[in-house]
Amino acid sequence: DAYLARIAEHDAQINSFITVTEDSARQAAEAADARRAAGQASLLTGIPLAHKDIFCTQGVRTSCGSKMLDNFVAPYSATVVEKLDQEGMVSLGKTNMDEFAMGSSNESSFYGPVRNPWDAQAVPGGSSGGSAAAIAARLTPAATGTDTGGSIRQPASFCGITGLKPTYGRVSRWGMIAYASSLDQGGPMARTAEDCALLLSAMAGFDPKDSTSIQRGVPDYRSALDSPLSGLTIGLPKEYFGDGLDASVADVLQAAIRELEALGVTFKDVSLPNTRLAIPSYYVIAPAEASSNLSRFDGVRFGHRCENPQDLEDLYKRSRGEGFGAEVKRRIMIGTYALSEGFYDAYYRKAQQIRRLLTQDFLAAFNEVDLLLGPVAPTTAFNLGSKNNDPVQMYLEDIYTLGINLAGLPGMSVPAGFAAGRPVGMQLIGPHFEEARLLNVAHQYQ
Ligand code: GLN
Repeated sequence: DAYLARIAEHDAQINSFITVTEDSARQAAEAADARRAAGQASLLTGIPLAHKDIFCTQGVRTSCGSKMLDNFVAPYSATVVEKLDQEGMVSLGKTNMDEFAMGSSNESSFYGPVRNPWDAQAVPGGSSGGSAAAIAARLTPAATGTDTGGSIRQPASFCGITGLKPTYGRVSRWGMIAYASSLDQGGPMARTAEDCALLLSAMAGFDPKDSTSIQRGVPDYRSALDSPLSGLTIGLPKEYFGDGLDASVADVLQAAIRELEALGVTFKDVSLPNTRLAIPSYYVIAPAEASSNLSRFDGVRFGHRCENPQDLEDLYKRSRGEGFGAEVKRRIMIGTYALSEGFYDAYYRKAQQIRRLLTQDFLAAFNEVDLLLGPVAPTTAFNLGSKNNDPVQMYLEDIYTLGINLAGLPGMSVPAGFAAGRPVGMQLIGPHFEEARLLNVAHQYQ
């Protein structure tokens, strides 16, 4: 009741929810009460949460922030949603997002931009901006997000909350609407690392319905939270602290580094020499995969269908032309171009080769250090409308987050302070499957 009341009071201004499922939330809360009375509650039973509107939720509209799916009611739930349902969590609804998760500011949503609860002039970040803003405004204690190139970490940073992008394959992608399948990964967003640990323990695990999910036991991520940090070595990639990083963000990170030193962490300078190639590589690979994934939205089986199609060609063209927004169309065109005969070697193949180089940079760094620390984004939350008309400016925001997805690594955004009243996150990056280490450092720091 308290969270539903807060949503009713504040979300007209913030716009973090696309759909609020008030009735089913109350039913789930009653079921959770019964479960608790029967002595069968887990730690998550009865805890409210919200799902990014990219996760299919049975019987509830799943829009992916697009007009294309405005009328789409999912016939089944994503594995992540099912797992959290099974814990007895109470879903409050579906959160706003950039259309098909393409964006860094939440301004590409068909349902309008989300406002940053810390400053209504500022974007919340994207694409999981609705989830981050809802948590920051205390409209929900937790939410799911997805991260293809930073979409959990960057909005977490801009809104001053904690978000974790797991190792690729750690969390099932089944029922998560695909953007770029080799990069997409769902993960938890919450106030603290401890809450993220609880959520991740419930979300992670092998799923026979996702061929890229990994058959590997899921640790209890809470058990390592209290380990001391002495003996830990964290690398500071010099390319993450160079030109382009806002001085006020750098200052906040320096203070965080000093605090971690006081907790026993040793810092070491390292290099990720190919960092500058992350943006060009990602912005070929992600649109290429998207152009293929989004071909399923054809106006035939589900989603938007144009009025009075003349023939099949007309049905495809007008349904897609009307259903997709400008950024989605841009990505489909870039991706189709990069994959077309004659250009494949120059763009897609080259981007994949760079992807391997970037991965090798990280693996080499992890021979020297346990984890890496850096900024999440070059700036704090920017103003609504300030980068919206310049896609390249928007893509440059992603310089510190994309490489982690290209390499399949886990990464986390942890609130580190404020610059001019806007939150600053610090990013922790680990070797594959070292989520527990990230959570441990974040928890000790918090
Ligand atoms: N900003 C990046 C993009 O637009 C990342 C988005 C994401 O992680 N879903 O592609």
